[in-house]
Amino acid sequence: MALSDDQIRSLVRALSITRELEIDCSECLDLVAEFAERELAGRPIPDALETVRHHLTRCGECLEEYEALFTALKRMQEQKENEDRPD
Ligand SMILES: [Zn+2]
Repeated sequence: MALSDDQIRSLVRALSITRELEIDCSECLDLVAEFAERELAGRPIPDALETVRHHLTRCGECLEEYEALFTALKRMQEQKENEDRPD
């Protein structure tokens, strides 16, 4: 089954888009704090940070980093909420 020129073109475009979205571990670690904060706050994730999510689905090391960070941020937030409570 041969691909038509159009199909090949759109395939190539899809692949190059995917490649643009790929980031490496150091780029991921630069962005992962911002990503975790937004996730925790339930704020929208901009396209630039979707690359982090994409990387985390493929990289266990960064996923571990993200989970540790997320847990730490969550704990800090809970502590802050406790302090804010007039008790
Ligand atoms: Zn990574």
